[in-house]
Amino acid sequence: MTATARQPGDPTSGSSEEAPRPRPPKQEQQPASEEVTEVAPGIIRMQLPIWMPGLGHVNTYGLLDDRGLAVVDPGLPGPSSWRALKTRLKTAGYTVSDIHTVIVTHSHPDHFGGAGRIKKEAHADLVAHRAFTTWSLEESNRRNHLPTEEEAAEAERIAAAAAQALDLGAEEIPTIADHTDDYEGDPLRDNPTSELQASSVPWGGETPWGGSKHPMPPWRRRMMIRALRFLFRPPDPTRRVVHGERLELAGREWVSIHTPGHTIDHLCLYDPEFGVLLSGDHVLPSITPHISGVGNGADALKSYLQTLDLVAALDGVRLGLPAHGNPFDDVPGRVEAIKEHHQERMELLGEASHAIGPATVQQLSHEIFPRKHWGVMAESETFAHLEHMVLEGEAERWDDDNGRLMYRVA
Ligand SMILES: [Zn+2]
Ligand SMILES: [Zn+2]
Repeated sequence: MTATARQPGDPTSGSSEEAPRPRPPKQEQQPASEEVTEVAPGIIRMQLPIWMPGLGHVNTYGLLDDRGLAVVDPGLPGPSSWRALKTRLKTAGYTVSDIHTVIVTHSHPDHFGGAGRIKKEAHADLVAHRAFTTWSLEESNRRNHLPTEEEAAEAERIAAAAAQALDLGAEEIPTIADHTDDYEGDPLRDNPTSELQASSVPWGGETPWGGSKHPMPPWRRRMMIRALRFLFRPPDPTRRVVHGERLELAGREWVSIHTPGHTIDHLCLYDPEFGVLLSGDHVLPSITPHISGVGNGADALKSYLQTLDLVAALDGVRLGLPAHGNPFDDVPGRVEAIKEHHQERMELLGEASHAIGPATVQQLSHEIFPRKHWGVMAESETFAHLEHMVLEGEAERWDDDNGRLMYRVA
């Protein structure tokens, strides 16, 4: 999942003071096309609808070989996405049972959602990075029964409606790791005091920078979270790969490229024969993925920038196949543009810090993000940038008397 690149003064971000200018949607926001296209030798692109604001579709790539096909990132959980997947496969001349392998690029629900069901129904292998998912299979077996089609459809309807109504950022939708409150044993259900909400993870949990993520999550938000937890079947990989492993797909050999930054478990696949990079959310054609400062390593931005360089330097890379948006041919050029975006964001933070003096993450996030984007996503992205600057010696951090982190950019 992704967040669009936003900056004050950015012509695409707009602001309430300016007259709204009509602008075409970014390619990542285009609704899912029903067309199935061949994008490289032995690789088809299928687009599945997703209901998160800011994104119109997820690309599910089919890698064809004489055994059938492997699919990469088979969309959200729930019946709508599943129906679309079956229709696209049919258009391409396949059925679900022809899938022998599912590859999940990272632990976001628009990427892994359909994977567990494919694994089960097609007896397919499920490949993900070694760091994928923190939810053990024993736990999930104990907790979940398989939802019926009606239950799943209802849960999907609630989740989709809530996501739209609340204008949730894609990153705010819980992933499989967010399982700490049980469906049954959740004290919030019976006793929704603000103290309990404040200590509940992730919707009221304390952030590292000393603020509450969502001090009082609205009732609808909680409904949505429950619906999503119910929908998700945490997929358990049959093969966990590390950086540099070889995989036989589409009749040729691919190399797994570990690309932490957007998430700690992000995986790209590289085909040296045709110069194809399956780039997941790591490199997208016209938006930049959200880099969260929480649960994502000590310096997520550094990991991200370094692994951007890594994919740009791949020998003979000439086609990027992203999880959202259209195929693009200049992978190094796109990497350069994304790096510039992060550089600019750090410069904006420097200017803001000089203007207002020592400040909290929230205060600085309000300086560099337009008001309509204020909130936990803007703060976690600001935090990731500030922490990077601290570790690079470009900023100072200390605790104030209330235990909040304070920053000053040098
Ligand atoms: Zn993602
Ligand atoms: Zn995504």
